[in-house]
Amino acid sequence: MRSARPEERTEATTPNAGIVSLKDETGKMIHLENAMEIFKILPRTNCRDCRVPTCLAFAAAVFKGEKKLENCPHLEKDVLRMFNVQNAQSRTLEREEERALKQLKREVANVDHASAAERLGAGFSGGMLTIKCLGKDFRVDSQGNVISDVHVHGWITVPILTYVLSCSGKPASGNWVPFRELKNGASWAPLFGRRCETPLKQVADTHTDLFEHMIQVFNAKPAPNAFDSDIAVVLHPLPRLPMLICYWKPDGSMESSLNVFFDDTAEENLVIDSIYRITAGLVIMFEKIAITHDL
Ligand code: SF4
Repeated sequence: MRSARPEERTEATTPNAGIVSLKDETGKMIHLENAMEIFKILPRTNCRDCRVPTCLAFAAAVFKGEKKLENCPHLEKDVLRMFNVQNAQSRTLEREEERALKQLKREVANVDHASAAERLGAGFSGGMLTIKCLGKDFRVDSQGNVISDVHVHGWITVPILTYVLSCSGKPASGNWVPFRELKNGASWAPLFGRRCETPLKQVADTHTDLFEHMIQVFNAKPAPNAFDSDIAVVLHPLPRLPMLICYWKPDGSMESSLNVFFDDTAEENLVIDSIYRITAGLVIMFEKIAITHDL
């Protein structure tokens, strides 16, 4: 990178191009000439949201023309501005999401809904599955459409359809484990901490009615004495995916703390990225509720 204010992206990465070339508003070309130069402008969190295992692997894929910079949804704002990729990034992500959703719907349409109901802990009537998510009913029709009386967020549609496809039906064992101890949890754990546990703790710290709200609105159940926490509740984001949230209040010089636990069967009933996704969506919902209704 050799310019401070490139405004216009004029050349997308092309397969086997070898060099990522961009042009600033003065017409000066910027060349990212190797994977390390691309790597330097990435967030380097290895979060895998680009569906590549590490930022370095992503940089290499961009360099080879297999991925585009905008496939990383976490580029810093100044980098986005620098490469003017924000609109392209949004469009690319939307297209990818749409494609993935269509594929999921096609696969769900091939599932025999009637015989899947028991496995999913769901109801079945009128050709539709009824799946409880946080105490609310979500119906899945024979074409894989998700319908509900409440707003159907994007973060809930994909996990519900994935659940229909991947849930083994294994009942909960009652053994709670932190997210990082799930079989595939370790590599997702930093992101889970940052996007789920930390913001949820911040809501709990500032809105003491959070847990009361969870019990009333989301059909949570108190879980007294869980891990010696001060407050604990069990929620069901999906029927066979119980989640335990434990909160420890600040004590003297000790800061407050919050952890989210899952039953150790969790990954047998939902794949790890959907476990992350539904929890992150839940946390965003709690943050919004906290802001708009001052719990
Ligand atoms: S999405 Fe971005 S930050 Fe996350 S692994 Fe991919 S390149 Fe790195």
